[in-house]
Amino acid sequence: MKNRELKFTRIYYEPSIKNYELGKFLIKKYEKLPKIEINSHNNIEELRKYENKDFAKLKRYLILGIRKTHKYTPNYKISDYLVPFTSSGCYAMCMYCYLICNYNKCSYLRVFVNKEEILDRLIKFSNNSDKELVFEIGSNSDLLLENLVTNSLKENIEYFLEKTSKGKLTFPTKFSYIEPLLEISDKKRVLPRMSLNPQNIIEKVEFGTSSFDERINAINKLASAGYKTYILIAPVILTDTYKEDYTNLIEELKERLSKEAKVDITFEVIFMTYSYVHRKINEEAFPKALKLYNPNLMTSRGIGKYHYKSNIKEEAKKFIEDLITNNFKNCKIKYIV
Ligand code: SF4
Repeated sequence: MKNRELKFTRIYYEPSIKNYELGKFLIKKYEKLPKIEINSHNNIEELRKYENKDFAKLKRYLILGIRKTHKYTPNYKISDYLVPFTSSGCYAMCMYCYLICNYNKCSYLRVFVNKEEILDRLIKFSNNSDKELVFEIGSNSDLLLENLVTNSLKENIEYFLEKTSKGKLTFPTKFSYIEPLLEISDKKRVLPRMSLNPQNIIEKVEFGTSSFDERINAINKLASAGYKTYILIAPVILTDTYKEDYTNLIEELKERLSKEAKVDITFEVIFMTYSYVHRKINEEAFPKALKLYNPNLMTSRGIGKYHYKSNIKEEAKKFIEDLITNNFKNCKIKYIV
């Protein structure tokens, strides 16, 4: 995405956001946009009535509210807990986005203005733990994109780092807008993970995200600022040319990552899962786009959920694992799922 200005067309907001500094800031920032009061960011009836074909239109609405649920979910991948943070939903439109499973077509960006409450809970939780925990704060939105709206990511991370000496924060991103991270004081306690896919997948499927080139440059900048390199190859999509495309991706990484970025790399690899709801939204909102559902390669898991057939996935997993280990001898592969 070249232009960093998110072009919202209207704002839906809970009136009580005006009791918070961030709420006041955002109302002022978007003063020229039409505004509609709502009772709850979770239940905007007029938006639920939109049709699937209006998906892109819905993504241009910004919802402002107060986060009321603060449930932490244990996690066993890269973090110990998935933590509800300062936003959910997203302005971008990746066709496989996991947020569709939770929010259906209403997966627009919601920003929660009660960030101090959210952070204070997290700090307390971290302080009360016997061990050093890693918190995944980006499982509900892309925080670098959210930051274009709130401009508060750096401040939020610094707040956590200053108020507790325990705990680490991690989040994935598909964006290159890493500037707020470059001046964070303690980079060992912050683990940004850059999500990558071949450029043809980014263009055809990950609408509105940063290009492959931009993401590589961002990884190099993070490494020279002192961050350890985390790369998320996700989601792997088995197109007709996937072997060639992912080979090019890994070879380009090898060639273009800086020496610093290559010192200590951790990879995560996640294969795409898909659903009937994704199919319907994509068919109606993006009728000419690549079809991600392939009945020859996929099978059902649960009602309306699809994943790659195990024999096909096992072969592809081996292929990607060999690719990574042959090109990055000393890297760590945290998991391939
Ligand atoms: S950038 Fe992430 S959160 Fe946003 S649409 Fe894409 S997958 Fe979903």
